[in-house]
Amino acid sequence: MITAAAAEPLRQLGYGQVQLAAGPLQRQARENHRLVLALDENALLRPFRMRSGLAAPGHDLGGWYDTYGFAPGANFGQWISALSRYYAITGDVPTQDKVHRLVRAYAATLESDGRFYQNNRFPAYTYDKLVGGLLDARLLAHDAAALSMLERTTQAAVAYLPPHAVARNEHSKPGEDFSKHAWDESYTLPENQFFAWHLTGDDRHCVLARRFLYDDFFSPLANGDNVLPGKHAYSHVNALSSAAQAYLSLGSPMYQQAALQGFAMIDAQSYATGGWGPDEHFIVPGSGALGASLTDVRNSFETPCGAYAHFKLTRYLLRITRDTRYGDSMERVLYNTVLGALPIQSDGRAFYYSDYTRNAKKRFYPDHWPCCSGTLPMIAADYAISTCFTDPNGIYVNLYVPAQVTWRQGNAMCCLSIKTDYPYAGAIALTMQVPGGLTFTVNLRIPAWAAGASVRVNGRRETPTLEPGTFAAIQREWRSGDLVELELPLPLRLQSVDAAHPDTVALLAGPLVLMRVLDEDWTNDSTLTRTALRSAQRFSSDAHDWQAKLVDKTLKWRPFVDIIEESYSVYQDVLPV
Ligand SMILES: [Zn+2]
Repeated sequence: MITAAAAEPLRQLGYGQVQLAAGPLQRQARENHRLVLALDENALLRPFRMRSGLAAPGHDLGGWYDTYGFAPGANFGQWISALSRYYAITGDVPTQDKVHRLVRAYAATLESDGRFYQNNRFPAYTYDKLVGGLLDARLLAHDAAALSMLERTTQAAVAYLPPHAVARNEHSKPGEDFSKHAWDESYTLPENQFFAWHLTGDDRHCVLARRFLYDDFFSPLANGDNVLPGKHAYSHVNALSSAAQAYLSLGSPMYQQAALQGFAMIDAQSYATGGWGPDEHFIVPGSGALGASLTDVRNSFETPCGAYAHFKLTRYLLRITRDTRYGDSMERVLYNTVLGALPIQSDGRAFYYSDYTRNAKKRFYPDHWPCCSGTLPMIAADYAISTCFTDPNGIYVNLYVPAQVTWRQGNAMCCLSIKTDYPYAGAIALTMQVPGGLTFTVNLRIPAWAAGASVRVNGRRETPTLEPGTFAAIQREWRSGDLVELELPLPLRLQSVDAAHPDTVALLAGPLVLMRVLDEDWTNDSTLTRTALRSAQRFSSDAHDWQAKLVDKTLKWRPFVDIIEESYSVYQDVLPV
Protein backbone atom coordinates (compact mmCIF):
# COMPACT_ATOMS: atom_id res chain seq x y z
CA MET A 1 0.00 0.00 0.00
CA ILE A 2 1.42 3.37 -0.99
CA THR A 3 0.23 6.00 1.45
CA ALA A 4 -0.72 9.45 0.29
CA ALA A 5 -1.11 12.71 2.16
CA ALA A 6 -4.63 13.15 3.45
CA ALA A 7 -4.64 16.88 2.75
CA GLU A 8 -6.66 18.40 -0.08
CA PRO A 9 -4.98 18.04 -3.47
CA LEU A 10 -2.81 20.93 -4.54
CA ARG A 11 -4.60 23.37 -6.84
CA GLN A 12 -3.70 23.76 -10.47
CA LEU A 13 -3.23 27.31 -11.74
CA GLY A 14 -5.11 28.62 -14.77
CA TYR A 15 -3.38 28.59 -18.16
CA GLY A 16 -3.06 32.38 -18.15
CA GLN A 17 -1.46 32.48 -14.70
CA VAL A 18 1.90 31.17 -15.90
CA GLN A 19 3.63 33.13 -18.65
CA LEU A 20 6.72 31.35 -19.91
CA ALA A 21 9.69 33.63 -20.62
CA ALA A 22 12.30 33.12 -23.36
CA GLY A 23 13.63 29.57 -23.42
CA PRO A 24 13.03 26.19 -25.08
CA LEU A 25 9.60 25.66 -23.47
CA GLN A 26 8.34 29.01 -24.70
CA ARG A 27 9.77 28.29 -28.16
CA GLN A 28 7.96 24.93 -28.37
CA ALA A 29 4.69 26.41 -27.06
CA ARG A 30 4.84 29.26 -29.56
CA GLU A 31 5.65 27.09 -32.57
CA ASN A 32 2.74 24.78 -31.70
CA HIS A 33 0.39 27.72 -31.20
CA ARG A 34 1.36 28.99 -34.67
CA LEU A 35 0.83 25.52 -36.12
CA VAL A 36 -2.72 25.00 -34.80
CA LEU A 37 -3.67 28.60 -35.64
CA ALA A 38 -2.64 28.01 -39.28
CA LEU A 39 -4.48 24.68 -39.78
CA ASP A 40 -6.80 24.76 -42.80
CA GLU A 41 -10.37 24.81 -41.49
CA ASN A 42 -12.04 23.15 -44.47
CA ALA A 43 -9.51 20.35 -44.30
CA LEU A 44 -10.13 19.96 -40.55
CA LEU A 45 -13.87 19.70 -41.12
CA ARG A 46 -13.77 17.52 -44.21
CA PRO A 47 -13.94 14.08 -42.49
CA PHE A 48 -16.98 15.23 -40.47
CA ARG A 49 -18.70 16.78 -43.48
CA MET A 50 -18.00 13.96 -45.93
CA ARG A 51 -18.89 11.16 -43.55
CA SER A 52 -22.18 12.92 -42.76
CA GLY A 53 -23.00 13.25 -46.48
CA LEU A 54 -22.55 17.04 -46.60
CA ALA A 55 -20.83 19.29 -49.09
CA ALA A 56 -17.13 19.54 -48.23
CA PRO A 57 -15.18 22.29 -49.97
CA GLY A 58 -11.39 22.13 -50.12
CA HIS A 59 -9.22 19.07 -49.75
CA ASP A 60 -8.31 16.45 -47.16
CA LEU A 61 -5.59 17.31 -44.65
CA GLY A 62 -3.68 14.13 -45.49
CA GLY A 63 -2.30 11.11 -43.67
CA TRP A 64 -4.11 9.58 -40.71
CA TYR A 65 -6.66 12.41 -40.56
CA ASP A 66 -8.24 11.85 -44.00
CA THR A 67 -11.96 11.21 -44.41
CA TYR A 68 -11.36 7.52 -45.04
CA GLY A 69 -7.86 7.38 -43.55
CA PHE A 70 -6.56 5.47 -40.54
CA ALA A 71 -8.10 7.80 -37.93
CA PRO A 72 -10.51 10.22 -39.65
CA GLY A 73 -10.78 13.52 -37.80
CA ALA A 74 -9.24 11.96 -34.69
CA ASN A 75 -7.12 15.01 -33.83
CA PHE A 76 -9.93 17.55 -34.30
CA GLY A 77 -10.90 17.67 -30.62
CA GLN A 78 -7.25 17.84 -29.53
CA TRP A 79 -6.60 20.82 -31.79
CA ILE A 80 -9.73 22.56 -30.41
CA SER A 81 -8.27 21.90 -26.94
CA ALA A 82 -4.88 23.25 -27.97
CA LEU A 83 -6.37 26.41 -29.53
CA SER A 84 -8.50 26.99 -26.42
CA ARG A 85 -5.48 26.54 -24.13
CA TYR A 86 -3.33 28.92 -26.21
CA TYR A 87 -6.15 31.44 -26.14
CA ALA A 88 -6.25 31.16 -22.33
CA ILE A 89 -2.47 31.69 -22.19
CA THR A 90 -2.19 34.54 -24.68
CA GLY A 91 -5.62 36.18 -24.96
CA ASP A 92 -5.07 36.16 -28.73
CA VAL A 93 -8.44 37.00 -30.32
CA PRO A 94 -7.83 35.27 -33.71
CA THR A 95 -7.16 32.07 -31.75
CA GLN A 96 -10.47 32.39 -29.89
CA ASP A 97 -12.27 33.25 -33.16
CA LYS A 98 -10.89 30.09 -34.73
CA VAL A 99 -12.30 28.01 -31.84
CA HIS A 100 -15.73 29.61 -32.31
CA ARG A 101 -15.71 29.07 -36.09
CA LEU A 102 -14.63 25.43 -35.77
CA VAL A 103 -17.20 24.60 -33.07
CA ARG A 104 -20.01 26.10 -35.17
CA ALA A 105 -18.91 24.42 -38.39
CA TYR A 106 -18.50 21.10 -36.57
CA ALA A 107 -22.01 21.51 -35.12
CA ALA A 108 -23.42 21.73 -38.64
CA THR A 109 -22.03 18.24 -39.38
CA LEU A 110 -23.60 16.53 -36.35
CA GLU A 111 -26.21 13.92 -37.28
CA SER A 112 -28.17 12.34 -34.44
CA ASP A 113 -27.65 8.87 -35.94
CA GLY A 114 -23.89 9.35 -35.47
CA ARG A 115 -23.09 8.29 -39.03
CA PHE A 116 -19.61 9.82 -38.63
CA TYR A 117 -18.81 6.90 -36.33
CA GLN A 118 -20.00 4.20 -38.73
CA ASN A 119 -17.19 2.02 -39.97
CA ASN A 120 -14.79 4.11 -37.91
CA ARG A 121 -11.85 2.38 -36.27
CA PHE A 122 -11.73 4.82 -33.36
CA PRO A 123 -15.21 5.87 -32.18
CA ALA A 124 -14.24 6.03 -28.47
CA TYR A 125 -10.88 7.73 -29.13
CA THR A 126 -12.37 10.35 -31.44
CA TYR A 127 -15.37 10.99 -29.18
CA ASP A 128 -13.11 11.31 -26.11
CA LYS A 129 -10.94 13.94 -27.84
CA LEU A 130 -14.08 15.82 -29.00
CA VAL A 131 -15.38 15.90 -25.41
CA GLY A 132 -12.04 17.31 -24.21
CA GLY A 133 -12.01 19.88 -26.99
CA LEU A 134 -15.58 21.07 -26.37
CA LEU A 135 -14.97 21.32 -22.60
CA ASP A 136 -11.85 23.39 -23.22
CA ALA A 137 -13.73 25.52 -25.77
CA ARG A 138 -16.34 26.31 -23.11
CA LEU A 139 -14.02 26.76 -20.13
CA LEU A 140 -11.01 28.40 -21.73
CA ALA A 141 -12.23 30.01 -24.97
CA HIS A 142 -15.68 30.92 -23.48
CA ASP A 143 -17.56 29.31 -26.35
CA ALA A 144 -21.24 29.58 -25.42
CA ALA A 145 -22.30 26.87 -27.90
CA ALA A 146 -19.77 24.24 -26.84
CA LEU A 147 -21.82 22.56 -24.10
CA SER A 148 -24.88 22.01 -26.26
CA MET A 149 -22.50 20.60 -28.92
CA LEU A 150 -21.12 18.30 -26.22
CA GLU A 151 -24.60 16.93 -25.54
CA ARG A 152 -25.33 16.42 -29.24
CA THR A 153 -21.91 14.81 -29.75
CA THR A 154 -22.56 12.40 -26.89
CA GLN A 155 -25.98 11.51 -28.27
CA ALA A 156 -24.47 10.80 -31.69
CA ALA A 157 -21.53 8.76 -30.42
CA VAL A 158 -23.00 6.72 -27.62
CA ALA A 159 -24.49 3.96 -29.81
CA TYR A 160 -20.99 3.29 -31.19
CA LEU A 161 -19.32 2.87 -27.81
CA PRO A 162 -18.91 -0.59 -26.27
CA PRO A 163 -21.02 -1.54 -23.22
CA HIS A 164 -18.01 -1.12 -20.91
CA ALA A 165 -14.26 -0.55 -21.11
CA VAL A 166 -12.84 -3.30 -23.28
CA ALA A 167 -9.31 -4.30 -24.20
CA ARG A 168 -7.69 -2.52 -27.09
CA ASN A 169 -8.34 -5.16 -29.74
CA GLU A 170 -11.94 -5.99 -28.94
CA HIS A 171 -13.80 -3.06 -30.39
CA SER A 172 -14.96 -3.77 -33.91
CA LYS A 173 -18.66 -4.34 -34.34
CA PRO A 174 -20.21 -7.03 -36.55
CA GLY A 175 -19.73 -6.07 -40.18
CA GLU A 176 -16.72 -3.85 -39.52
CA ASP A 177 -13.45 -5.39 -40.56
CA PHE A 178 -10.92 -4.01 -38.11
CA SER A 179 -9.95 -7.52 -37.07
CA LYS A 180 -6.23 -6.90 -37.42
CA HIS A 181 -6.19 -3.74 -35.38
CA ALA A 182 -9.36 -2.35 -33.90
CA TRP A 183 -7.21 -0.45 -31.41
CA ASP A 184 -9.84 1.80 -29.89
CA GLU A 185 -9.30 3.10 -26.36
CA SER A 186 -12.63 3.14 -24.52
CA TYR A 187 -10.77 2.84 -21.19
CA THR A 188 -9.56 6.45 -21.44
CA LEU A 189 -13.12 7.90 -21.50
CA PRO A 190 -13.86 8.43 -17.77
CA GLU A 191 -11.48 11.36 -17.16
CA ASN A 192 -13.23 13.72 -19.58
CA GLN A 193 -16.66 12.35 -18.60
CA PHE A 194 -15.98 13.31 -14.99
CA PHE A 195 -14.97 16.80 -16.16
CA ALA A 196 -18.17 17.00 -18.23
CA TRP A 197 -20.22 15.89 -15.22
CA HIS A 198 -18.61 18.54 -12.97
CA LEU A 199 -19.10 21.29 -15.55
CA THR A 200 -22.66 20.48 -16.67
CA GLY A 201 -24.10 18.73 -13.60
CA ASP A 202 -25.62 16.25 -16.05
CA ASP A 203 -25.61 12.82 -14.39
CA ARG A 204 -25.45 11.09 -17.77
CA HIS A 205 -21.76 11.96 -17.85
CA CYS A 206 -21.22 10.45 -14.40
CA VAL A 207 -22.98 7.29 -15.61
CA LEU A 208 -20.72 7.18 -18.69
CA ALA A 209 -17.63 7.79 -16.55
CA ARG A 210 -18.50 4.88 -14.25
CA ARG A 211 -19.43 2.67 -17.21
CA PHE A 212 -15.95 2.99 -18.72
CA LEU A 213 -13.86 2.71 -15.55
CA TYR A 214 -11.47 -0.09 -16.45
CA ASP A 215 -11.69 -2.12 -13.25
CA ASP A 216 -10.24 -5.20 -15.00
CA PHE A 217 -7.02 -3.14 -15.23
CA PHE A 218 -7.24 -0.89 -12.16
CA SER A 219 -8.21 -3.50 -9.59
CA PRO A 220 -5.14 -5.75 -10.02
CA LEU A 221 -2.85 -2.68 -10.14
CA ALA A 222 -4.36 -1.45 -6.87
CA ASN A 223 -3.52 -4.85 -5.36
CA GLY A 224 0.09 -4.57 -6.50
CA ASP A 225 -0.37 -7.11 -9.30
CA ASN A 226 1.66 -5.94 -12.30
CA VAL A 227 -0.66 -6.46 -15.27
CA LEU A 228 1.21 -4.04 -17.54
CA PRO A 229 3.26 -6.51 -19.64
CA GLY A 230 2.06 -6.69 -23.24
CA LYS A 231 -0.38 -3.80 -22.84
CA HIS A 232 -0.33 -0.80 -25.18
CA ALA A 233 1.81 1.72 -23.35
CA TYR A 234 0.49 5.24 -24.05
CA SER A 235 -3.22 4.50 -23.81
CA HIS A 236 -2.85 2.61 -20.52
CA VAL A 237 -0.83 5.43 -18.95
CA ASN A 238 -3.55 7.75 -20.21
CA ALA A 239 -6.11 5.44 -18.56
CA LEU A 240 -4.37 5.95 -15.20
CA SER A 241 -5.44 9.61 -15.35
CA SER A 242 -9.01 8.29 -15.40
CA ALA A 243 -8.18 6.32 -12.24
CA ALA A 244 -6.75 9.46 -10.60
CA GLN A 245 -9.79 11.51 -11.63
CA ALA A 246 -12.12 8.73 -10.42
CA TYR A 247 -10.42 8.98 -7.02
CA LEU A 248 -10.85 12.77 -6.96
CA SER A 249 -14.46 12.58 -8.20
CA LEU A 250 -15.76 9.52 -6.32
CA GLY A 251 -13.32 9.26 -3.41
CA SER A 252 -12.67 5.55 -3.93
CA PRO A 253 -9.23 4.61 -2.55
CA MET A 254 -8.97 1.70 -5.02
CA TYR A 255 -8.61 4.17 -7.92
CA GLN A 256 -5.99 6.17 -6.04
CA GLN A 257 -4.02 2.99 -5.38
CA ALA A 258 -4.34 1.93 -9.04
CA ALA A 259 -2.84 5.23 -10.20
CA LEU A 260 -0.05 5.21 -7.59
CA GLN A 261 0.91 1.56 -8.02
CA GLY A 262 0.57 1.75 -11.80
CA PHE A 263 2.91 4.73 -11.90
CA ALA A 264 5.47 2.94 -9.70
CA MET A 265 5.42 -0.10 -12.00
CA ILE A 266 5.88 2.09 -15.09
CA ASP A 267 8.69 4.03 -13.40
CA ALA A 268 10.46 0.74 -12.67
CA GLN A 269 10.47 -0.12 -16.39
CA SER A 270 11.46 3.28 -17.75
CA TYR A 271 14.56 4.24 -19.67
CA ALA A 272 16.90 6.83 -18.11
CA THR A 273 15.09 9.45 -20.23
CA GLY A 274 11.82 8.72 -18.42
CA GLY A 275 10.39 7.19 -21.61
CA TRP A 276 8.75 3.75 -21.52
CA GLY A 277 7.12 1.12 -23.71
CA PRO A 278 9.46 -0.06 -26.49
CA ASP A 279 7.37 -0.63 -29.63
CA GLU A 280 4.48 0.94 -27.69
CA HIS A 281 4.18 -1.97 -25.25
CA PHE A 282 5.06 -2.62 -21.63
CA ILE A 283 7.62 -5.32 -20.93
CA VAL A 284 7.80 -8.14 -18.38
CA PRO A 285 9.51 -6.76 -15.24
CA GLY A 286 12.96 -8.24 -14.66
CA SER A 287 13.08 -9.79 -18.14
CA GLY A 288 15.92 -7.61 -19.45
CA ALA A 289 13.66 -6.60 -22.35
CA LEU A 290 14.43 -2.89 -21.90
CA GLY A 291 18.16 -3.48 -22.43
CA ALA A 292 17.43 -5.93 -25.26
CA SER A 293 15.31 -3.30 -27.01
CA LEU A 294 18.39 -1.10 -27.55
CA THR A 295 19.68 -3.39 -30.29
CA ASP A 296 16.67 -3.58 -32.57
CA VAL A 297 13.72 -1.40 -31.51
CA ARG A 298 13.90 2.08 -33.06
CA ASN A 299 10.35 2.81 -31.84
CA SER A 300 11.66 3.24 -28.31
CA PHE A 301 9.17 5.73 -26.86
CA GLU A 302 5.98 7.20 -28.36
CA THR A 303 7.13 10.65 -27.41
CA PRO A 304 4.46 13.38 -27.67
CA CYS A 305 1.52 11.10 -26.75
CA GLY A 306 3.50 9.32 -24.03
CA ALA A 307 4.81 12.56 -22.55
CA TYR A 308 1.32 14.10 -22.67
CA ALA A 309 -0.12 11.17 -20.68
CA HIS A 310 2.90 11.16 -18.35
CA PHE A 311 2.56 14.87 -17.57
CA LYS A 312 -1.16 14.51 -16.90
CA LEU A 313 -0.67 11.53 -14.58
CA THR A 314 2.27 13.07 -12.69
CA ARG A 315 0.32 16.32 -12.23
CA TYR A 316 -2.50 14.35 -10.61
CA LEU A 317 -0.16 12.34 -8.40
CA LEU A 318 1.89 15.37 -7.36
CA ARG A 319 -1.30 17.25 -6.46
CA ILE A 320 -2.71 14.27 -4.53
CA THR A 321 0.43 13.20 -2.65
CA ARG A 322 2.71 16.31 -2.63
CA ASP A 323 5.52 13.84 -3.29
CA THR A 324 8.38 15.33 -5.32
CA ARG A 325 9.06 12.03 -7.10
CA TYR A 326 6.27 12.90 -9.53
CA GLY A 327 7.83 16.27 -10.34
CA ASP A 328 11.24 14.60 -10.75
CA SER A 329 9.67 12.15 -13.18
CA MET A 330 7.85 14.89 -15.09
CA GLU A 331 11.01 16.94 -15.64
CA ARG A 332 12.96 13.86 -16.71
CA VAL A 333 10.37 13.22 -19.44
CA LEU A 334 10.30 16.93 -20.31
CA TYR A 335 14.01 17.48 -20.92
CA ASN A 336 14.90 14.09 -22.36
CA THR A 337 11.93 13.38 -24.58
CA VAL A 338 9.19 15.81 -25.60
CA LEU A 339 11.16 19.07 -25.49
CA GLY A 340 13.52 17.53 -28.04
CA ALA A 341 10.72 16.47 -30.43
CA LEU A 342 11.18 17.77 -33.97
CA PRO A 343 8.62 20.51 -34.69
CA ILE A 344 5.47 19.42 -36.53
CA GLN A 345 5.72 20.53 -40.17
CA SER A 346 2.86 22.33 -41.94
CA ASP A 347 2.36 19.29 -44.21
CA GLY A 348 1.75 17.03 -41.18
CA ARG A 349 5.15 15.39 -40.81
CA ALA A 350 5.51 14.84 -37.08
CA PHE A 351 7.89 13.38 -34.54
CA TYR A 352 6.47 10.15 -33.12
CA TYR A 353 9.13 7.78 -31.71
CA SER A 354 12.31 8.57 -29.82
CA ASP A 355 15.06 6.18 -30.93
CA TYR A 356 17.28 4.62 -28.25
CA THR A 357 19.25 2.21 -30.41
CA ARG A 358 23.03 2.48 -30.32
CA ASN A 359 23.20 4.48 -33.54
CA ALA A 360 20.06 6.57 -33.39
CA LYS A 361 18.62 9.55 -35.25
CA LYS A 362 15.63 11.85 -34.91
CA ARG A 363 13.11 11.13 -37.64
CA PHE A 364 9.65 12.16 -38.78
CA TYR A 365 6.98 9.47 -38.82
CA PRO A 366 6.27 8.26 -42.37
CA ASP A 367 2.50 8.95 -42.19
CA HIS A 368 1.36 12.55 -41.90
CA TRP A 369 -0.80 13.90 -39.04
CA PRO A 370 -0.44 10.90 -36.70
CA CYS A 371 -1.71 10.81 -33.10
CA CYS A 372 1.42 12.59 -31.85
CA SER A 373 0.53 15.68 -33.93
CA GLY A 374 -2.60 15.91 -31.74
CA THR A 375 -0.82 15.67 -28.40
CA LEU A 376 2.29 17.81 -28.99
CA PRO A 377 0.33 21.08 -29.29
CA MET A 378 -1.55 20.19 -26.09
CA ILE A 379 1.46 19.28 -23.95
CA ALA A 380 3.36 22.40 -25.02
CA ALA A 381 0.37 24.44 -23.79
CA ASP A 382 0.31 22.36 -20.59
CA TYR A 383 3.85 23.36 -19.60
CA ALA A 384 2.16 26.43 -18.09
CA ILE A 385 -0.08 24.46 -15.72
CA SER A 386 2.68 22.02 -14.77
CA THR A 387 5.07 24.67 -13.44
CA CYS A 388 3.53 25.67 -10.09
CA PHE A 389 0.68 24.60 -7.81
CA THR A 390 -0.89 26.24 -4.78
CA ASP A 391 -2.65 25.43 -1.53
CA PRO A 392 -4.14 27.72 1.13
CA ASN A 393 -0.70 28.10 2.74
CA GLY A 394 1.39 29.02 -0.27
CA ILE A 395 2.90 28.03 -3.58
CA TYR A 396 4.72 24.91 -4.80
CA VAL A 397 7.36 25.44 -7.49
CA ASN A 398 7.63 22.23 -9.50
CA LEU A 399 9.42 23.07 -12.75
CA TYR A 400 12.33 25.49 -12.77
CA VAL A 401 11.67 27.30 -16.03
CA PRO A 402 11.89 31.00 -16.91
CA ALA A 403 8.39 32.29 -16.19
CA GLN A 404 6.15 34.81 -14.46
CA VAL A 405 3.64 33.14 -12.16
CA THR A 406 0.63 35.01 -10.79
CA TRP A 407 -1.66 33.60 -8.12
CA ARG A 408 -4.07 34.62 -5.40
CA GLN A 409 -2.82 34.10 -1.85
CA GLY A 410 -5.85 34.68 0.35
CA ASN A 411 -7.14 38.00 -0.97
CA ALA A 412 -3.82 39.17 -2.34
CA MET A 413 -2.50 38.84 -5.88
CA CYS A 414 1.11 37.66 -5.81
CA CYS A 415 3.67 37.25 -8.53
CA LEU A 416 6.78 35.12 -8.70
CA SER A 417 9.34 35.73 -11.41
CA ILE A 418 11.61 32.74 -12.14
CA LYS A 419 14.93 33.34 -13.89
CA THR A 420 17.22 30.44 -14.69
CA ASP A 421 19.20 28.59 -17.33
CA TYR A 422 18.35 25.29 -15.59
CA PRO A 423 19.02 22.45 -16.32
CA TYR A 424 22.20 23.73 -18.01
CA ALA A 425 22.96 25.61 -14.79
CA GLY A 426 21.89 24.92 -11.23
CA ALA A 427 21.19 28.53 -10.22
CA ILE A 428 17.52 29.50 -9.98
CA ALA A 429 16.46 33.02 -8.95
CA LEU A 430 12.89 33.66 -7.80
CA THR A 431 11.76 37.24 -7.18
CA MET A 432 8.57 38.03 -5.28
CA GLN A 433 5.98 40.75 -5.91
CA VAL A 434 3.38 41.01 -3.13
CA PRO A 435 1.16 43.82 -1.88
CA GLY A 436 2.67 44.92 1.47
CA GLY A 437 3.99 42.17 3.75
CA LEU A 438 2.35 38.79 3.41
CA THR A 439 3.12 35.55 5.25
CA PHE A 440 2.96 32.32 3.29
CA THR A 441 5.15 29.38 2.30
CA VAL A 442 7.22 28.96 -0.84
CA ASN A 443 7.82 25.24 -1.44
CA LEU A 444 10.71 24.37 -3.74
CA ARG A 445 11.08 20.90 -5.27
CA ILE A 446 14.48 19.48 -4.38
CA PRO A 447 15.07 16.59 -6.83
CA ALA A 448 16.10 13.25 -5.37
CA TRP A 449 19.51 13.46 -7.11
CA ALA A 450 20.28 16.99 -5.80
CA ALA A 451 22.33 16.24 -2.66
CA GLY A 452 23.97 19.44 -1.43
CA ALA A 453 21.27 21.82 -2.68
CA SER A 454 21.16 25.16 -0.89
CA VAL A 455 18.95 28.21 -0.79
CA ARG A 456 19.47 31.87 0.14
CA VAL A 457 16.79 34.42 0.86
CA ASN A 458 17.91 38.00 0.25
CA GLY A 459 21.50 36.77 0.31
CA ARG A 460 21.20 34.95 3.64
CA ARG A 461 21.71 31.22 3.65
CA GLU A 462 18.72 29.32 4.95
CA THR A 463 19.31 26.47 7.37
CA PRO A 464 19.03 23.55 7.70
CA THR A 465 20.40 21.86 4.58
CA LEU A 466 17.83 20.86 2.03
CA GLU A 467 16.78 17.26 1.85
CA PRO A 468 16.73 15.75 -1.65
CA GLY A 469 13.38 14.26 -2.61
CA THR A 470 11.30 16.74 -0.62
CA PHE A 471 9.78 20.17 -1.01
CA ALA A 472 11.90 22.72 0.85
CA ALA A 473 9.39 24.92 2.67
CA ILE A 474 10.32 28.57 3.24
CA GLN A 475 7.75 30.28 5.39
CA ARG A 476 8.18 33.98 6.16
CA GLU A 477 6.66 37.37 5.69
CA TRP A 478 7.32 38.14 2.05
CA ARG A 479 7.81 41.63 0.65
CA SER A 480 8.13 42.84 -2.91
CA GLY A 481 11.64 42.39 -4.23
CA ASP A 482 12.45 39.48 -1.91
CA LEU A 483 14.91 37.24 -3.72
CA VAL A 484 15.14 33.47 -3.31
CA GLU A 485 18.26 31.91 -4.81
CA LEU A 486 18.17 28.14 -5.11
CA GLU A 487 21.33 26.30 -6.08
CA LEU A 488 20.87 22.74 -7.32
CA PRO A 489 24.09 20.81 -7.90
CA LEU A 490 23.96 18.91 -11.21
CA PRO A 491 25.99 15.79 -10.44
CA LEU A 492 27.23 13.54 -13.25
CA ARG A 493 26.10 9.99 -12.67
CA LEU A 494 25.52 6.72 -14.51
CA GLN A 495 22.37 4.65 -14.69
CA SER A 496 22.08 1.09 -16.04
CA VAL A 497 19.28 0.34 -18.48
CA ASP A 498 18.11 -2.63 -16.39
CA ALA A 499 19.42 -5.23 -13.94
CA ALA A 500 20.10 -7.73 -16.73
CA HIS A 501 22.40 -5.20 -18.47
CA PRO A 502 24.38 -3.59 -15.62
CA ASP A 503 27.17 -2.45 -17.98
CA THR A 504 24.86 -0.67 -20.42
CA VAL A 505 24.67 2.79 -18.91
CA ALA A 506 23.35 6.28 -19.58
CA LEU A 507 25.26 9.38 -18.45
CA LEU A 508 23.19 11.98 -16.59
CA ALA A 509 23.84 15.53 -15.42
CA GLY A 510 21.06 16.62 -13.07
CA PRO A 511 17.81 15.79 -14.89
CA LEU A 512 19.51 15.67 -18.30
CA VAL A 513 20.49 12.46 -20.03
CA LEU A 514 23.65 13.25 -21.99
CA MET A 515 23.50 11.43 -25.30
CA ARG A 516 26.73 10.54 -26.99
CA VAL A 517 27.14 12.29 -30.34
CA LEU A 518 28.45 9.83 -32.91
CA ASP A 519 30.92 11.16 -35.47
CA GLU A 520 31.04 9.67 -38.95
CA ASP A 521 34.11 7.61 -38.06
CA TRP A 522 32.35 6.28 -34.97
CA THR A 523 33.04 2.68 -34.07
CA ASN A 524 31.57 0.52 -31.36
CA ASP A 525 34.10 0.85 -28.52
CA SER A 526 34.80 -2.24 -26.52
CA THR A 527 37.04 -0.46 -24.02
CA LEU A 528 34.90 2.35 -22.63
CA THR A 529 35.01 2.67 -18.87
CA ARG A 530 32.74 4.23 -16.32
CA THR A 531 35.59 6.54 -15.38
CA ALA A 532 35.83 7.80 -18.98
CA LEU A 533 32.14 8.64 -19.03
CA ARG A 534 32.31 10.35 -15.65
CA SER A 535 35.22 12.51 -16.85
CA ALA A 536 32.91 14.43 -19.21
CA GLN A 537 33.05 18.20 -18.71
CA ARG A 538 31.80 21.37 -20.26
CA PHE A 539 34.37 23.87 -21.43
CA SER A 540 32.22 26.79 -20.38
CA SER A 541 29.36 26.93 -17.93
CA ASP A 542 26.84 27.90 -20.64
CA ALA A 543 27.95 25.28 -23.21
CA HIS A 544 25.35 22.70 -24.19
CA ASP A 545 28.02 20.10 -24.98
CA TRP A 546 30.04 17.87 -22.71
CA GLN A 547 33.36 16.32 -23.75
CA ALA A 548 35.76 13.71 -22.42
CA LYS A 549 39.33 13.62 -23.78
CA LEU A 550 40.61 10.06 -23.83
CA VAL A 551 44.03 8.85 -24.97
CA ASP A 552 43.02 8.19 -28.56
CA LYS A 553 39.81 10.17 -29.03
CA THR A 554 37.43 12.78 -27.70
CA LEU A 555 33.91 11.73 -26.78
CA LYS A 556 31.09 14.26 -27.11
CA TRP A 557 27.76 14.35 -25.31
CA ARG A 558 24.71 16.51 -25.88
CA PRO A 559 21.19 16.63 -24.34
CA PHE A 560 18.28 15.43 -26.51
CA VAL A 561 16.95 18.98 -26.83
CA ASP A 562 20.18 20.07 -28.54
CA ILE A 563 20.39 17.17 -30.99
CA ILE A 564 19.11 17.89 -34.48
CA GLU A 565 20.44 15.79 -37.37
CA GLU A 566 23.44 14.14 -35.74
CA SER A 567 23.55 10.45 -34.84
CA TYR A 568 23.52 9.72 -31.12
CA SER A 569 23.47 6.94 -28.58
CA VAL A 570 21.55 7.16 -25.28
CA TYR A 571 23.34 4.17 -23.72
CA GLN A 572 26.99 3.09 -23.82
CA ASP A 573 28.39 -0.35 -23.12
CA VAL A 574 31.17 -0.07 -20.57
CA LEU A 575 33.65 -2.54 -19.15
CA PRO A 576 32.43 -4.41 -16.06
CA VAL A 577 33.57 -2.94 -12.76
ZN1 LIG B 1 1.17 9.31 -30.64
